[in-house]
Amino acid sequence: MKMPVLFVGHGSPINIIEDNSYTRSLADLGKKLPKPEAIVVVSAHWQTRGTYITGSKAPPTIYDFYGFPEALYQATYTCPGSPEMAALVQEITQREIQVDNNRGIDHAAWAVLKHMYPSADIPVLEISLDVRKSPRDHYEMGRQLAPLRQEGVLIIGSGNIVHNLSRIDFSQLYSDVYSWAAEIDGQIAEALVNRDHASLINYEKLPYANIAVPTNEHYLPMLYSIALQEESDNLHFTCTDIQNGSISMRSFIISD
Ligand code: ZN
Repeated sequence: MKMPVLFVGHGSPINIIEDNSYTRSLADLGKKLPKPEAIVVVSAHWQTRGTYITGSKAPPTIYDFYGFPEALYQATYTCPGSPEMAALVQEITQREIQVDNNRGIDHAAWAVLKHMYPSADIPVLEISLDVRKSPRDHYEMGRQLAPLRQEGVLIIGSGNIVHNLSRIDFSQLYSDVYSWAAEIDGQIAEALVNRDHASLINYEKLPYANIAVPTNEHYLPMLYSIALQEESDNLHFTCTDIQNGSISMRSFIISD
């Protein structure tokens, strides 16, 4: 059986302890999807030279956010890792992906998985973003992960399609949406529906790309997800919220 592929917007870490339409969409996914053998998350929060995958048997939780309420730092996600799966990923990518045995799991993965799989009993691995790669290179890297779907692995790109930390309304999660954020989020949604991967890879040409994607580490995980879309796969949006005025939480599932 071929596992679905997800892209999930993770947004503000405050969602870890919130109950809203976004977090409920994650909980729903966790209930509906076939139980994965392992979960591999391409993380917006792990940038490296070369591409790495976590190989720890018991990856520690990384609290890579600052100035949030104490409850977020008390939250834990003590999932197992899988050195065997890390070795398999290294093998199928002909060692283009290397194993990092020390790295833990950052909030791009656990903030999402805490809602999807609260019991934390499925092995979780993370893949980093190679800072030297172009958007097209990242897309090609994503394609190499295709065999994992047949191994019962749930691949999740975790970032945000529209993400500009300096243009955020910090006052509340659900506030008025900036028109530029809605505009480019809509254009990207259309490209996703139309399988227009070329436009998604060349996102810099889209209107407002300079303010919507000022740095691309949150955008790139999405290219890994669409790279895994096969001819027979459909794409459905599982969340279309925009939080903090400008953060697109747009998330989708690719499955046949
Ligand atoms: Zn983030």
